Amino acid sequence: MSSSVPISTPYFSLQPVAEGVYAAVAVRGTGAMANAGIIDLGDQVVVFDSMYTPQAGQALHDAAVQLFGKPVTLLINSHFHLDHTGGNQAFPGVPILSTAKTRSLTYERTTQFLTFAKAHPDYPLTVKKALEQETDAKKRQEKEYELGELLAMDAALPTLVPTLATLTFHDSITLHGSKRSAVLRSLGNGHSPCDSALFLPDDDILFAGDLLFAGAHPSIMTGNVPEWISILDALLQDCPALIVPGHGPVADKQAVPPFLMPKAAGYVSDGFSFCLAYTNSSIRSGWLVQICTSGCQDMTSRMCAGSSSVQAITLKPFSMAATASSLFRKG
Ligand SMILES: [Zn+2]
Repeated sequence: MSSSVPISTPYFSLQPVAEGVYAAVAVRGTGAMANAGIIDLGDQVVVFDSMYTPQAGQALHDAAVQLFGKPVTLLINSHFHLDHTGGNQAFPGVPILSTAKTRSLTYERTTQFLTFAKAHPDYPLTVKKALEQETDAKKRQEKEYELGELLAMDAALPTLVPTLATLTFHDSITLHGSKRSAVLRSLGNGHSPCDSALFLPDDDILFAGDLLFAGAHPSIMTGNVPEWISILDALLQDCPALIVPGHGPVADKQAVPPFLMPKAAGYVSDGFSFCLAYTNSSIRSGWLVQICTSGCQDMTSRMCAGSSSVQAITLKPFSMAATASSLFRKG
């Protein structure tokens, strides 16, 4: 049963991608930060990722309940980054599923983040000052988004509690619902040391988490770029019909190239390229800010703010013709 009442929230827009399947596309600067998914398996309701703040997570939980008129039965964490796990606590009593590594890193890094945030209460002010001094319109917009996320998290800090997976899986797990099934697969060490993605074989839809960014520079602060490229080569060998990325709009087959290649980023040359940069994320990672030691002058994203040199790696073009990801078919 779908809700007849429009769902209104400042944190995300709900985009139906199949009957009973929604992408929750984050509104930037609100405290949601990352996309999520809401999937009706029939006798189960699954939420994929929980956004950045508990407030955004609560809105996501409430939307899921309102959409289908039944409780959420499972929350999945694609990887440990706080913009995908910070809303976990808004799902009390709901089992949370991730890899064991995601579970342990969620605890470790969320705890580090809280320690950092308490030690640097004025950090958002530094972003505010940088915004005030920025004259480039595009960069100002990015700084405004960043400040919005920081202030939303700042307001959430007193209530933020590291909330971990209650179930872990190793390689892959299939959820068999009465209406559709879903395959969750651990894909290795690309964007993070523990990336997983959810595939709906009946609908040919992939919830890719942060293995894919649409129209924005991918965050590489905890990534392994060469392995990431290998994962993408395999994951997109047979491109799904629709892909819900971790950040940015839902993409179809035609939209996949810009999805891997933010054209506004000056480092891209021919086709599918990646910025190979190294970050000094250890100090600031809690705030999801990184500075490239080799960087990108013209990034649309704050994820690469430094500059000096860039190495680009060309990815192999992948087939657009097939209908489902072979990685998941194997599972
Ligand atoms: Zn991430």
